[in-house]
Amino acid sequence: MAIFILLVVVMLALYLLNAKLLKETQRLASDEELDKVTESLPDNEEICTEIQKDLGSKCKIELDDKAKSSAYIFFLNKIILSNTESSKKNYSRVLFIAHECVHSVQDRLTHQMNFGLANIKNLYDIILLVLLLLRKGSLELIMISFLISFVSFYYRMILEADAVYRSVMVSRKYLKKRDLEYIADKYEEIVPKTIQSMYFSYIMPILARQSAFVFLLLVGRVFS
Ligand SMILES: [Zn+2]
Repeated sequence: MAIFILLVVVMLALYLLNAKLLKETQRLASDEELDKVTESLPDNEEICTEIQKDLGSKCKIELDDKAKSSAYIFFLNKIILSNTESSKKNYSRVLFIAHECVHSVQDRLTHQMNFGLANIKNLYDIILLVLLLLRKGSLELIMISFLISFVSFYYRMILEADAVYRSVMVSRKYLKKRDLEYIADKYEEIVPKTIQSMYFSYIMPILARQSAFVFLLLVGRVFS
């Protein structure tokens, strides 16, 4: 019971901290003046192609009119590029495009570890959920899930932290060619908040899942 209460308290504290961070990030990410300045830049696909060329990335690009944000899909070696109205207008688009381009040139082994561990974690958790529902789970099995989640989180964070910081340098290089380097200074302001918010957004689902497992274990014990 103590573990369950601890997990819920930590989760609530992280949720409140993250809400504050997200507010701050949203405030920094909206700047009408800079949005107007970046209107002169080419479309997202062209920006992506040029940055890819600079980085030596050869992955495919796919435009998506519905995706709220862009993403690099490792096993397809493809960048899904958000093409919504807001992604075309926001001044931070160069930064987010650069972020996905950096992912496409990162160490393949780290990507494989991240991909493999994420799948092992999901598979293990499905088996654990079935065991808990059958009242055959234990705290030790939940601890193993917790451990796999954190090793998986570690690899994910290596990739994300690297992409977040390198994307500022890559964007700066791109913007410098167009005499818009001052926009990259604003990116440097966004980055520390973005990375903190990213940590929270990955830790919280881990804690939520573990809390649910501990809760199921407790319920199983009460009714057995
Ligand atoms: Zn990323």
